[in-house]
Amino acid sequence: MASNGPMILCDNLVKIYKVQDLEVVALQGLDVVVEKGEFLAVIGPSGSGKSTLMNTLGGLDRPSAGKAIVDGQDLLKLSSYALTRYRRSKVGFVWQQPSRNLIPYLSLQENVELPMIIAGMPRSERKAWTRELLDAVGLWDRRNHSMHQLSGGEQQRTAIGVALANKPILLLADEPTGEVDTATAQRIMDTFRDLNKRYDLTIVIVTHDPRVSDQVDRVVAIRDGRTSSERVRRVREQQALVEVVEEDLALGQGASAPPAEDVTYHEYVVVDNAGRLQLPADYLESLGLAGRAEVELTEHGILVKPAKALDDAPAQVARRAREAEGADDAESSGRSGAVRGLRGLFSRRKPESEEE
Ligand code: ADP
Repeated sequence: MASNGPMILCDNLVKIYKVQDLEVVALQGLDVVVEKGEFLAVIGPSGSGKSTLMNTLGGLDRPSAGKAIVDGQDLLKLSSYALTRYRRSKVGFVWQQPSRNLIPYLSLQENVELPMIIAGMPRSERKAWTRELLDAVGLWDRRNHSMHQLSGGEQQRTAIGVALANKPILLLADEPTGEVDTATAQRIMDTFRDLNKRYDLTIVIVTHDPRVSDQVDRVVAIRDGRTSSERVRRVREQQALVEVVEEDLALGQGASAPPAEDVTYHEYVVVDNAGRLQLPADYLESLGLAGRAEVELTEHGILVKPAKALDDAPAQVARRAREAEGADDAESSGRSGAVRGLRGLFSRRKPESEEE
C-alpha cells in the first residue's frame, strides 16, 4: 500500500563498508527528502557516495545507521527476504551500461517482457504493458530487433523499458547518459521526463553531465557522503503568465510578451537536523575560511566570516594594553585611542618577552 509521506526520506543516513580491518564511511549522515513524482538529479565528485546512495535506495546495499525510508518502508528494518521483494517490485534500475539490463540474444520485446514473465504477470496484462512501455520509450516499431541491431541510445531506452517492466514506484538511474553523445543523451532525458510526467514516476538520476542537471526538478549535490547543496528548478506556472497578460490588458497596455525564460533556478545549502551545513568550496576558498569561523545573527540571516585569529591576539592584547593604560587614555576615544593602544601593545610586549 502506498504511504502518504514522501517517496524517499533519508535522515542522517550512514553507510560503512568494511574491507578487512578497514572501515570506509561512504555516507556520513546524509539527509535528503524526495517527494512523490519528483525528478531529481544527484551530482558530486567521484567517491562522494552517489552510487552508495543509489545502491542503498535500491535495496542492493543495507544502510548501517540512520533512516532510509522509501514509500513508508524502512530499509534498515526489512528482513533479507523483504528487502529482496522490495528490490524486485518497488524499484527499477538503469545503469551506465544498458547491457546490465539486457539479454543480447532476445528481441527488444522479449527483453521487456521477461521480468513480467518471471513476476507471473497475466499474459494479457503483460502484452498490454509491453506495448505501452515500448511506445513510451519510442521503440514499438523496432520490437523485433535484437540488441546488436540497436544503437547505444536505443539500447538504453530499451533498458529503461526493462527497468519499468515490474511497474516500480521508483526509478533509479546511475549515469544513464555517461556513454552517449549529446543528441542521444537528450533523447534519453526526454524519455525520462516523459515517463516522469506520464506516470507521475519518481526518478532519481546520478550524473556528472551538466546537460542533465538543467532538465530535472531539483539537483542535490553530495560532498563527502553528505548532501551539501540543492538547486531547484521552477517553471513559472501557466496561470501566473496568464495573470500577467490579463493585468497588462486591464491597464490598457496590450499583452506584453511573456518572458523569454520562464524557468528559474534557486540555489540552497542543506542544513541538517543538527544544524550542520556545508559551505560552497569556492566561497571557503575566496574567504580563506578554514578550521574556524565566526557566525553572527543579523537582520537578514546568519553571517559567516573568517575567525579573527586567536588568533586575534594583537587586537585582544591591544585592548588589554588600552585598559592597562587606563587613566591616561580615559578621555581618548575612537581611533586615536586604538592607535595608542596598539603602540602600547608593542612597547609592552618586549618587556614581557624579556621577562620570560
Ligand atoms: P561515487 O558514486 O560518488 O563515486 P561511491 O558511492 O562509489 O562514490 O563511493 C563512496 C566511497 O565508498 C568511496 O570511498 C568508495 O571507495 C567506497 N566504497 C564504495 N563501495 C564500496 C564497497 N563495496 N566496498 C568498500 N568501499 C566502497
